[in-house]
Amino acid sequence: DEHAVAQTIGKPEARVIYRPRNKFSHKGTFGHALMVGGSYGKMGSICLATNAALRAGAGMATAFVPACGYDIFQTAVPEAMVLTDVNNKILSHIDYDIEPTAIGFGVGVGTGEETVKAFENMLKKNSKPMVIDADGLNILSKNKDLLKLLPEGSILTPHPKELERLIGSWKNDFEKLEKARDLATEHKIILVIKGAYTFTVTSDETYINTSGNPGMATAGSGDVLTGILTALICQGYPTLTAAVLGVYLHGRAGDLAAEKLSYEGMIAGDIAAHTGAAILDLF
Ligand code: AMP
Ligand code: MG
Repeated sequence: DEHAVAQTIGKPEARVIYRPRNKFSHKGTFGHALMVGGSYGKMGSICLATNAALRAGAGMATAFVPACGYDIFQTAVPEAMVLTDVNNKILSHIDYDIEPTAIGFGVGVGTGEETVKAFENMLKKNSKPMVIDADGLNILSKNKDLLKLLPEGSILTPHPKELERLIGSWKNDFEKLEKARDLATEHKIILVIKGAYTFTVTSDETYINTSGNPGMATAGSGDVLTGILTALICQGYPTLTAAVLGVYLHGRAGDLAAEKLSYEGMIAGDIAAHTGAAILDLF
């Protein structure tokens, strides 16, 4: 059947998807990324994700973090704005008065009851496309009803453990992709299954990414991807296109970082820092 065919994504394919900027564009053209995440002791993830959103071209970025994260975030990511939760250590009331273009949710948030409730309330009010990662995925796994509240075309970015929590275990890769496709179909969402070869799965299409390297097996690597995907949606790419291009650029940025720093020496922030080089390298 048509599902048997998966498209491989490398530089030639990514180049065709990429859209160069118009000379007369302004920062409003490239959208406002709202990155929601962080908790006490886990502020690095939201700093990385928001920095990556700016590195990937979001016109503006705001992070929504627990109050304890205010100084940390402003210091780490001065190009971004910050909104804080009423709670000091965790997210408990995700109330914002901005109009984001796209939202990245979940890095470093934990899976506590108050945060689950806050996420549910946010989903009920929100219609903007979302990228859900990390503990955002773990919250969805423990509260499957919330999947129904995701805007159509939202992107979920599980690594294998997070995927298993979402869809249960699998006997082989075929069954894994079949179960992922079923979830994508049921909720009209896109699953980015991260690994050495990242698979992007929709109800009727599968893409296999070819960029990336074992140097990316480092803490925070996935948080950077969350920021890149949110930024591409902000810039007007349809969510599937954003997923396919973003996964490629993230991997390529990792490859370029590794060329300078080695697999061992590179850290997640280096991937974000090389996103621009990955874009230049398309041509
Ligand atoms: P996370 O586990 O959420 O930090 O995500 C890890 C990120 O690094 C994902 O985007 C993976 O695809 C990528 N990654 C991890 N290990 C490798 C590898 N051996 N080869 C290529 N990419 C990798
Ligand atoms: Mg992760």
